[in-house]
Amino acid sequence: MSATIPGTVFSRTPVDAAAVDHALDGVRGACFWIEDLPVRPEHPVLRRAIDTDLLVVGGGYTGLWTAVVAKQREPGRRVVLVEAERIGWAASGRNGGFCAASITHGEENGRSRWPDQYDELERLGIANLDAIEATVEQYQLDCDYERTGELDVAIEPHQVEELRASGAEVLEADAVRRLVDSPTYLAGVLDPDVALVHPAKLARELARLAADLGVEIFEGTRATGIDGDGRNGPVRVTTETGIVTARRVALATNVFPSLLARYRMHTVPVYDYALMTEPLSAGQLASLGWEGRQGVGDMANQFHYYRLSRDDRILWGGYDAVYHYGRRVRPAYENRPETYRRLAGHFLATFPQLEGLRFSHQWAGAIDTSTRFCAFHGRALNGRVAHTAGFTGLGVGASRFAAEVMLDRLAGLDTERTRLDMVRRMPMPFPPEPIASIGIQTTRWALDRADHRGGRRNAWLRTLDALGLGFDS
Ligand SMILES: Cc1cc2nc3c(=O)[nH]c(=O)nc-3n(C[C@H](O)[C@H](O)[C@H](O)COP(=O)(O)OP(=O)(O)OC[C@H]3O[C@@H](n4cnc5c(N)ncnc54)[C@H](O)[C@@H]3O)c2cc1C
Repeated sequence: MSATIPGTVFSRTPVDAAAVDHALDGVRGACFWIEDLPVRPEHPVLRRAIDTDLLVVGGGYTGLWTAVVAKQREPGRRVVLVEAERIGWAASGRNGGFCAASITHGEENGRSRWPDQYDELERLGIANLDAIEATVEQYQLDCDYERTGELDVAIEPHQVEELRASGAEVLEADAVRRLVDSPTYLAGVLDPDVALVHPAKLARELARLAADLGVEIFEGTRATGIDGDGRNGPVRVTTETGIVTARRVALATNVFPSLLARYRMHTVPVYDYALMTEPLSAGQLASLGWEGRQGVGDMANQFHYYRLSRDDRILWGGYDAVYHYGRRVRPAYENRPETYRRLAGHFLATFPQLEGLRFSHQWAGAIDTSTRFCAFHGRALNGRVAHTAGFTGLGVGASRFAAEVMLDRLAGLDTERTRLDMVRRMPMPFPPEPIASIGIQTTRWALDRADHRGGRRNAWLRTLDALGLGFDS
């Protein structure tokens, strides 16, 4: 059946160019979440030499959770965190805010890579989300946390077949449309183990909690080098303005070049784009239903994710995932008018009842993509340095789990986390340019083509699948 339907629902549902023009008229090129922060406390630049028990490099969620949990585990130890720019300015401040229990980038990816350990990975992921929720409640983190669950929607006939084959409890089209009303929905599944947060508020609040627990935070402090004395001596991290001597170091620098050369090829930045609407009126909201306020994702390879904010805006992101030759992170890559227009057109095709609504913000960010689509955990200097990155766009929740892994390892502990194959084994690195670029662009083209051909994967994608490098959302 699917093979007879050409294109995707978006190519079959043309949207009037004037409606897209109107929707984007006056849109600001800025991240809504960061602009929405009432106050962003500033932290000083490190301008001296400092000695500490634990140094954390990177002030996104991974670094902040590492600092917070380190103090919770051992309040007496000295913990210093250095951030090159501002706390939460990068992925952690500008993401979709879907805080999922999954630490494996979804069940399919986890089961295909670690079939024997998947049940444990799922249990640990749910416990991690519960621990995030408990922290939010205990310390009253003001981050618009809502445990809404996520609605995964099939918008093509072949996706309905995939849903039925998965064994999940499938909601038929009318049941899905009673939850959120779009003419594009053919079926859906509800995942209860997902919460929504205000991303930038979560980063700000974690920094507040860390500081309250005694963590010393420095912003505008870029670490530039790392080396260590002997097998067990202190580790020295140089910054542009100071030097830190630490017994242990946790590197939480995500998509940015690692201080450890050996891990630089393990991630590539892939740009993801998002739009935010103005607040919906009561009538516009009523036209959607959406009383459960679930996060929503469609099931294409190139998928959209969307959700409501606390003040009833809709964040609409995803679809285009753009890699630029040379694997650099550059603000210029965030400006991509053709992608914002495509996203706006897909939004209007999904919710035609919202024609006339405008977008207030558009922005982008770099996804720390790894070849296994979930985090890897490296080590250096005889176990005195731990490094985690590679969340591939699902790190809001998983970053806390990664923090626990780094702290377990830095303490030399043998735990259920450190025993996981996912933790013990490293994924393949990406190849150097130009092979990386050719491979990534070919994969993107093939995924787009599969979405347009009833989900059928070509020989290239089947080869990647066989090598454990294939991707399906
Ligand atoms: C547009 C977008 C949407 C996303 N949506 C979701 C979503 O809905 N759900 C989800 O789970 N995930 C999502 N993600 C992914 C998620 O945001 C990330 O996985 C997560 O924020 C990673 O946190 P982090 O702390 O590891 O990295 P980051 O937030 O990138 O923080 C790393 C920090 O390290 C600092 N740094 C780097 N090098 C140095 C150095 N040498 N010295 C000092 N500091 C340094 C950087 O300045 C940066 O602040 C999305 C990402 C993007 C870009």
